[in-house]
Amino acid sequence: MHVLVTGGAGYIGSHATLRLLEDGHRVTVYDNLDRGHQATVKILQAFGGERYRFVRGDLLETEALRTALAGVDAVMHFAALAHVGESVIDPFRYWSVNLGGTLSLLTAMRDAKTPRLVFSSTCATYGEPPPERIPIAEDCPQAPVNPYGASKLACERLIKDVAEAHRRNGLPFGFALLRYFNVCGSDPKARLGEDHDPETHLIPICLEVALGQRKELTVFGEDWDTPDGTCIRDYVHVTDLVDAHVRVLEKLAPGAELIYNVGTGQGASVREVLNACRRVTGRPVAERRGDRRPGDPPALVNSPAKIRRELGWTAARANLDVMIEDSWRWRKDHPHGYGGSRR
Ligand code: UDP
Repeated sequence: MHVLVTGGAGYIGSHATLRLLEDGHRVTVYDNLDRGHQATVKILQAFGGERYRFVRGDLLETEALRTALAGVDAVMHFAALAHVGESVIDPFRYWSVNLGGTLSLLTAMRDAKTPRLVFSSTCATYGEPPPERIPIAEDCPQAPVNPYGASKLACERLIKDVAEAHRRNGLPFGFALLRYFNVCGSDPKARLGEDHDPETHLIPICLEVALGQRKELTVFGEDWDTPDGTCIRDYVHVTDLVDAHVRVLEKLAPGAELIYNVGTGQGASVREVLNACRRVTGRPVAERRGDRRPGDPPALVNSPAKIRRELGWTAARANLDVMIEDSWRWRKDHPHGYGGSRR
């Protein structure tokens, strides 16, 4: 298959690209390198050879996308802005990149007659589910509590509407919506890693503290209604997440509508993650008590029953220490991430 991966120079997209290349597919990465890394291009090029192609372009450039889509069998659409806190501060940018970018991509896909789409959605589309809805199944009502989740939910709706129109017009189109929980870890062989600028995610920040690059972790609220008072999330290893994409792609026939949550089903509190980072690194990770972060739901834990039943997917690297070990291995080798190679 020839797969176009938007955001294929970013964290999850680069890992997906590596896996697709490993499986023998052709991959065109489409990325504007705003948050993606030029360094991944060299790494993936070296691995994929002529099966790998990099196109630097923005999602809002529909014409460039249309050109890049020639001969493409499927799109994996990772390119997006994905920080909850940032989305509250700058909703304009989130709606423009996430919804505007997806609309532009769907327009280009319609024109290029690209028949398959795998879309990166998020558990943030569920908002703050009531306790009786946790663990969260795919039929849980979606009521996002921040602009990030709202923009992704709008994309889901847009994709469904477009698929329905394609169906009426007799165009073959299949789509998958994968709602990710908290993605972490990195390639177990440490070829690729996680490097965000700005970094806002819990595990990378803890590792930066362990490396002495930050003074401390600020714990965003210790007064939540959870057993230890800190927020609970479901952390899923990026290679397991990518495996879910590959499985879904195999099932994505024209007309298919596949919707799955991707998370292990195990929740970990901020305090548990912090302690796991101390354990794995063997280094102190200082902390300080902070206020709650606007837009944070107290607990998000997946029910992986549907994806397990229908795709046979289970998380092979579900252990929190294993996930952090993989992140730590790459981070120790690359203390400044991809370093000066950005852009
Ligand atoms: N968190 C924290 N301090 C930080 C960053 C994150 O306490 O510096 C908490 C955050 O409030 C959330 C959890 O860690 O409960 C995971 O946050 P992250 O930003 O990694 O992912 P999110 O759940 O927002 O997608």
